Amino acid sequence: MPIYDFHCLACDRVFERIVRADVLPACPHCAAEQVEKLVSMPAAPGKSAGIIASARRRAAQEGHLSNFGSSGKAGKT
Ligand SMILES: [Zn+2]
Repeated sequence: MPIYDFHCLACDRVFERIVRADVLPACPHCAAEQVEKLVSMPAAPGKSAGIIASARRRAAQEGHLSNFGSSGKAGKT
């Protein structure tokens, strides 16, 4: 099951929901329906270890594991 991150435009909070790809859930904090899906939000250390692990697995299958450094996030400065 994919877990998506959403940003509530009403209260400016971010939350995670397991939903179908074409469904926008209501905000659990203020019940507003003005939410946007965050497609590629940087994972917080520790919190989304499972998401990072699955991303690494997918990257390994695609042959570019080196894109994921020891920090878990490639810095582009
Ligand atoms: Zn909200």
